[in-house]
Amino acid sequence: MPQNLPSFEFSDRAKQVRSFLYDHWCEHGHGPNLRAVHEATGLDRRRIVETYKELERGLIVVFDDTSANANLLKVQPFSSYPSQVEVHVDDRFHSFAGCAMEATAISRMPPFEGKELRLESYCACCLEPLTVVMTNGDLVTSSAPNVRIHVDLSPWNWGNPNIEPMCDSMNYMIDADHGAAYEGRTGRLGARCTIDQARAFVAGTADNRMWDHDWAPGQMNPRMIVRFVASLGVDVTPWGS
Ligand SMILES: [Zn+2]
Repeated sequence: MPQNLPSFEFSDRAKQVRSFLYDHWCEHGHGPNLRAVHEATGLDRRRIVETYKELERGLIVVFDDTSANANLLKVQPFSSYPSQVEVHVDDRFHSFAGCAMEATAISRMPPFEGKELRLESYCACCLEPLTVVMTNGDLVTSSAPNVRIHVDLSPWNWGNPNIEPMCDSMNYMIDADHGAAYEGRTGRLGARCTIDQARAFVAGTADNRMWDHDWAPGQMNPRMIVRFVASLGVDVTPWGS
C-alpha cells in the first residue's frame, strides 16, 4: 500500500459499500462475501472489487485482490481471522478485533452504544490472559492495571504491503516489564502506550466511523503519525529517528 498518497474523496459508491460492511460486521460478527455485497448494493463483481480497492486506499478494508472472491481480510476495526483480541458482547464472542489498538475504539461504534465490550486478549510475552472492558470508548476495567499496548513496527513501515503487519505488531502486555521481556524474546523494540494514550490515538477514527457517512479517507503518512503519537506522551524512540 503506497504511503503519502494525495488526499482524495470517497465516491458515493464507496461510502455505500463501507456503510454496508460496518452494518454487516457489527450485526453478524464477520464480513460479507461478494454475493451479500451484491444483494445489498446491486453492484456487480467488477464494481465491488473496484470499490474495495478504493476503500483500501482510504484505510477502510484489507482484501486479497489475488482471490477470485475478493476475500475480505479486515474491515477495520475487525479481522476475518483469529487475531490477538477477541471481542465479547453481551457475554458472547462477537468477533476478532483487528488489533489491540483499534480494539479500544470498537465500543464507540453506534450499534454497541451503551454496551459493555469485553476484549479478551493476552500478554504477548507470556500468553497470560488479559481482559480489558470498555463502554462508549471509555475504559471500565482491566485485569492488568498497568496494561500497555506494545507497538513494535515503526510507522515508517506501516502499510507495507498493507496494514496487516502493523496490526500484528500492536499487542497487549501486562505491564512495561512484560513489554521488556517480550522485546528480549523477539528482538523487536516497541513504543508502549497506555489505554488512555491508545484511546487518544484512535479517537479521530472512533468519533467518525459509522457516525459520519461522509467520513474522509484515512492517510498513511508516517511523519504525521510519529509526531502525533509523540504528542500523546508516548516515547517513540524505539521507532528510530
Ligand atoms: Zn507477559
